[in-house]
Amino acid sequence: MRFAAIHNLLRKHRLQVVGTVFNSQTEVDRAYEQTAEIMTRTIAHEGGHAIVGLALGAGDVLEWIAIYNVSGETVGGGCRWGHKACPIEEQWMSHTAGMAAEKLQYGTYDEQLARWDKVDLKNAKFNPADLPKYLEKCGAVIQSHSSAWHTLQDLLYERTIRDLTYRIDAIRQGDTDVGHVTGQEARGIFAAEQVKAASK
Ligand SMILES: [Zn+2]
Repeated sequence: MRFAAIHNLLRKHRLQVVGTVFNSQTEVDRAYEQTAEIMTRTIAHEGGHAIVGLALGAGDVLEWIAIYNVSGETVGGGCRWGHKACPIEEQWMSHTAGMAAEKLQYGTYDEQLARWDKVDLKNAKFNPADLPKYLEKCGAVIQSHSSAWHTLQDLLYERTIRDLTYRIDAIRQGDTDVGHVTGQEARGIFAAEQVKAASK
């Protein structure tokens, strides 16, 4: 569903996609599909980073989440966090959260989307052998906030569609994020879930 809508808009507006040199229409088609696939997965992935960060108490330094894409040959999203000291295990969880979220939603995570996370993990002296354990740990955190995670994904998706519909010129010029949600909005979604859970 999300994939199809994003894919249609990318094609309709002929937005720049992954890759730069195409030798056939098949390759162009494939590039549109890959871009839509990455953007669709990024919604779950970045939603996972945000939820785990919020659950670990770093919500106050979450500045924004975005699905970006499109300004050049790069696609993929991000969460921007301000600085906050936390135990190394929590940093590892934060870097693992996107992969864990994809795994929950799709059964596997995409190596391309995970490549910066893996660089961050390496820089933080993470033992790769612990990855399965951390994927499970993060998966459990995300599942325990599953309604907030889904609400956040809905909003990221809605903004992505809005931007791909109404902000094409800015996207083409590469001077806007796609699917931008503020830290405050994410905190609001997370807090609303806590209130609902508490009143049950
Ligand atoms: Zn990530």
